[in-house]
Amino acid sequence: MRVPMLDLTEQYQTLRSEILQSMEEVMSSAHFILGSNVKKLEADIATYSNVSHGIGVANGSDAIHISLLGCGIQPGDEVIVPSFTFFATAGAVARANAVPVFVDIDPKTFNIDPLKLEAAITEKTKAIIPVHLYGQMADMDKIVEIAKKHNLAVIEDAAQAIGAEYKGKKVGELGTTATYSFFPTKNLGAYGDGGMIVTNDNEIAENMRVIRVHGSKPKYYHHVLGYNSRLDELQAAILNVKFPHLDQWSENRRQNAENYTKLLNEALGDQVVTPFVEEHNRHIFHQYTIRVDRRDELQAFLKENGVETMVYYPKPLHLQPVFAELGYKEGDLPETEKASLEAISLPMFPELKMEQQVYVVEKITEFYKG
Ligand SMILES: *Cc1c(COP(=O)(O)O)cnc(C)c1O
Repeated sequence: MRVPMLDLTEQYQTLRSEILQSMEEVMSSAHFILGSNVKKLEADIATYSNVSHGIGVANGSDAIHISLLGCGIQPGDEVIVPSFTFFATAGAVARANAVPVFVDIDPKTFNIDPLKLEAAITEKTKAIIPVHLYGQMADMDKIVEIAKKHNLAVIEDAAQAIGAEYKGKKVGELGTTATYSFFPTKNLGAYGDGGMIVTNDNEIAENMRVIRVHGSKPKYYHHVLGYNSRLDELQAAILNVKFPHLDQWSENRRQNAENYTKLLNEALGDQVVTPFVEEHNRHIFHQYTIRVDRRDELQAFLKENGVETMVYYPKPLHLQPVFAELGYKEGDLPETEKASLEAISLPMFPELKMEQQVYVVEKITEFYKG
């Protein structure tokens, strides 16, 4: 049996005629940039996030970068980020000429540890970027409380967490802004790059709308430096077809996660650590990530047996060569470094079959128990 990490073909076959028709309509209209499809998606995703503004941008990385600029982050300001995340979280900070300050994670959830946040705050700190890693929201109450006390912006990196909830609140409701990615492999994936920022703050929303069109307002008049960073109509048209299915897809992912956890616990007990889900969270399982011993050997064994897995993320950001100047060294963030050696993500997508999950767990069991 072969079990891919992700298979988008079945989803496409199900929606094929609707998607092709929506693309045909865009091409016939010849309106490709910031038209009715982007407007509709912005409105729908803002509503879905229980906030008043959605701003479509070119990708999830720009969504973070533009959020920082929209919140008034200046060169030299410090921005607190986790190190156990995709590069873009800290890359966006550096692109804004600000300084990423890395904070360790809670080993249970893999999310930034609010207990370690306050020690990282200086008079230069202007924002915190919690990442809702793998589809589970970070501990927002504590993060927002600390942010309020120190007057910091909170930018939720929700690239992996569209549809996640925390104590009944949606992504975007508690932060100053929240950022989504529509990269094809994300839970709501386009057929190319795309991203969106959501916020309840009218002024920041207006700043960000101006920044995505070269900082121009009105057209051809520039008071601030902006970029060309827009979600395009074709991608928005595709996403408008997909978006109504998102909650069902998330439920399928949650069911798949439940299956994995049950099968793994039955077969292996404490040998592997299955995902910890806070009771007050709705985890949407962008990834199903476990902790294991001999991780790289397990990954090679599974590959030989037709099971694809991924390691998110093998090298923490505070130890990346591009950030060497910041002066971090091994041992600075022990939980992050430990997770980077133990975490492995199993195949996860809404259409994953029970028999595939059974096979994956059989092979993991074979590796540890012979
Ligand atoms: C995917 C991702 C991004 C970047 O999104 P792009 O659309 O690929 O630019 C940012 N942060 C996290 C945590 C991600 O997983």
